[in-house]
Amino acid sequence: MENANIRNVSVIGAGTMGNGIAHVFAQFGFTVQLIDVAEKALEKALATIGKNLDRQVAKEKITQADKEAALSRLSTGTDLATGVANADLVVEAATENTALKLKIFQQMDEAAPDKAILATNTSSISITQIAAVTKRPEQVIGMHFMNPVPVMKLVEVIRGYSTSDATYAAVEQASKTLGKVPVEVNDYPGFVANRILMPMINEAIISLHEGVAGVAEIDTVMKLGMAHPMGPLQLADFIGLDVCLSILRVLHEGLGLDKYAPCPLLVNMVTAGKLGAKSGEGFYVHTRGSKDLVVASAFAR
Ligand code: NAD
Repeated sequence: MENANIRNVSVIGAGTMGNGIAHVFAQFGFTVQLIDVAEKALEKALATIGKNLDRQVAKEKITQADKEAALSRLSTGTDLATGVANADLVVEAATENTALKLKIFQQMDEAAPDKAILATNTSSISITQIAAVTKRPEQVIGMHFMNPVPVMKLVEVIRGYSTSDATYAAVEQASKTLGKVPVEVNDYPGFVANRILMPMINEAIISLHEGVAGVAEIDTVMKLGMAHPMGPLQLADFIGLDVCLSILRVLHEGLGLDKYAPCPLLVNMVTAGKLGAKSGEGFYVHTRGSKDLVVASAFAR
């Protein structure tokens, strides 16, 4: 039986995305269990959620009472089986690794109630492949939130090959309850967001590699010319160059076209450990506490 009546939500993985997903479900009245293998990740997630709720209070988007109610609906744990035992919906937001996600979905399938919907926030792994390791492929779906989750309105809702209409409708409704705009997408490599975004980022890197223009110049063209809030190279630094490379590889392999081949400069930067904001350097230098955009010395003109 599929569930159109979602009240209890379990979120697996308490990193960048998991804490945001737990935050919005708790804020909008769902009871939330946030699960991570790392106790430290849970502590950090709770601190982040508290800080982000405070910011919403300061901006008068929610009241202090709303904040306290949201926190009272949120609990954490490190045991996956216990964490999903009462779930109507599980949203998996663990590390982007196919083998890991397949294992987590098998565990969730065993431990979650039969009626529960199992969703994944994966950026690039096939929903159909994930669904195939469960005994309920019609109740498996992609729920692709954008970062930062409390701010970004979009949820790409991805139908796997076997996803049922009832599962889609329940997830669409839950997304709307969170104040998000769900968009229906089918299960092909990169879905829609990354299939379009990553080739643009790759083309920006190819343009830099071929000397068409410098880092700041490429980003300025896209910001001022196309009204993008951030240039593609700056955005790549924020997403993580390793993440961009791995998604491009999924597109290249899955769609089999050379136009998706990652630029050799991107491959070199990732090999050299220049991953963008998270490593302190990518196309720009990222200094904690500074918002200045300083082009990395490797690209100085
Ligand atoms: P992250 O590295 O910040 O967090 C992942 C968390 O998963 C970590 O806290 C880790 O301890 C935990 N984890 C690992 N194995 C686990 C297990 N077996 N059980 C429970 N928890 C486990 O990663 P993230 O950036 O939050 O990404 C999570 C997912 O969201 C990925 O699938 C990613 O592709 C997707 N995504 C990320 C973004 C983004 O901008 N970061 C955007 C959209 C989607």
